[in-house]
Amino acid sequence: MAIQSIRLFGDPVLRTPAAPVADFDKELRKLVKDLTDTMMDAPGAGLAAPQIGVGLRVFTYYVDEQLGHLINPDLDLSPECDEEGEEGCLSFPGLSFPTPRAIRAVARGFDMYGEPVTLEGTDLMARCFQHETDHLDGILFIDRMDPKQRKLAMKAVREAEWSGLSAPVIKVSPHVTGGKAL
Ligand SMILES: [Zn+2]
Repeated sequence: MAIQSIRLFGDPVLRTPAAPVADFDKELRKLVKDLTDTMMDAPGAGLAAPQIGVGLRVFTYYVDEQLGHLINPDLDLSPECDEEGEEGCLSFPGLSFPTPRAIRAVARGFDMYGEPVTLEGTDLMARCFQHETDHLDGILFIDRMDPKQRKLAMKAVREAEWSGLSAPVIKVSPHVTGGKAL
């Protein structure tokens, strides 16, 4: 097991766009293992490399008992949206808010051996692909909320016990996310 500290909202790494993976090497496979171990320990439904302080375009997911990872993802989204679905984030422990997302997503990328992969997701899986790919662009779920909802979310963030504790040494798990946080 190689469980890493999960970076919290306020840590600049979460706002930094991640670089594409160029080398599908042993280091990359270790990163995928660290992400997987950290996500399962939290527990969460998804985790992106910047959330453990690594600026590479890699995420893992565990949705509907399907465990996987994707590297250098590229998404095609359905026009139909779920406006009301609750979404959480391991970098915002204990909080979840309605966040609009496309209902279906096709995610193309690579596995850790450099083989091309195409994944199709609906509902929570689609939401996960969108949330994690956003992390790789420095985008957070609060950015996807309508302005009124974002205001409520930011109020809850300021009131959260972890607010302002964005030092990388903070270990946030275990916390109450119901395993749905991304
Ligand atoms: Zn997240």
